[in-house]
Amino acid sequence: KGPDPGIQLVQERLEQVKHKILVLSGKGGVGKSTLTALLSRGLALNNSNENVAVLDIDICGPSQPRVLGVAGEQVHQSGSGWSPVYVEDNLSVMSIGFLLSSVDDAIIWRGPKKNGMIRQFLSEVDWGNLDYLLIDTPPGTSDEHLSAATYLAKANLTGAILVTTPQEVALLDVRKEIDFCHKVNIKILGVIENMSIFVCPCCKRLSEIFPATTGGAKQMCMDLDVPFLGSLPLDPLLARYCDEGKDYLTELPDNTATKVLCEIIEKL
Ligand code: ADP
Repeated sequence: KGPDPGIQLVQERLEQVKHKILVLSGKGGVGKSTLTALLSRGLALNNSNENVAVLDIDICGPSQPRVLGVAGEQVHQSGSGWSPVYVEDNLSVMSIGFLLSSVDDAIIWRGPKKNGMIRQFLSEVDWGNLDYLLIDTPPGTSDEHLSAATYLAKANLTGAILVTTPQEVALLDVRKEIDFCHKVNIKILGVIENMSIFVCPCCKRLSEIFPATTGGAKQMCMDLDVPFLGSLPLDPLLARYCDEGKDYLTELPDNTATKVLCEIIEKL
């Protein structure tokens, strides 16, 4: 069996994209999709003459259409590939969520079918000129990650951002993710700690919802010699804005999460 021809197709399609970033997490529910959407919005806002896109390969739980406020939109196929859905003039998104007939449809696919879909997503979306491509992956290190890593290895992948909470179970899993990146030669751009603290809107008291018994993500990054990008607080407004597909960054510029995200974007 010769090399997978998909590798060359992905290379041809994505070669010109300047920054290709995988967003990974060890556990589900730590905020990986939310941060992918927020980072893409922030990048598009900060670089108005550059084009940003999100590719959602979280096949079993595609949430980008909802968080980016374009759920229910249709994608079309043309001679040059699938056209993504535009959130802003310079921000587009492609997700399996657009291809499901109902948001409640569950996808139960085995490895080869997932691999085929990821190859198609990576090689057949007509992004136009693109500067940043953020790829939202499922949690863990499964078939999808290996497929994406294989296809992107030759397409000059920039690196991966890892998302975790300070909780020990999440940190344990993110360590595995770091190990995966080392094994498949993916550069780690850094780790973001999400939901680090909660400031009560009534009494302003600060609480640690997920206590960092071993020093949290920052300490882990120092131990493992990987960059630490920043900590975002748990912010109920952020959850609400994302549920409603609204632009948190533009509408709440003074919130701590917005400020931290802007600092992280500067580092990318
Ligand atoms: P994952 O992609 O890691 O499975 P999600 O991005 O879907 O996780 O986030 C899980 C839930 O947590 C969502 O309902 C999201 O709105 C919420 N969430 C994520 N980050 C924050 C935050 N910093 N503050 C408040 N809610 C958050």
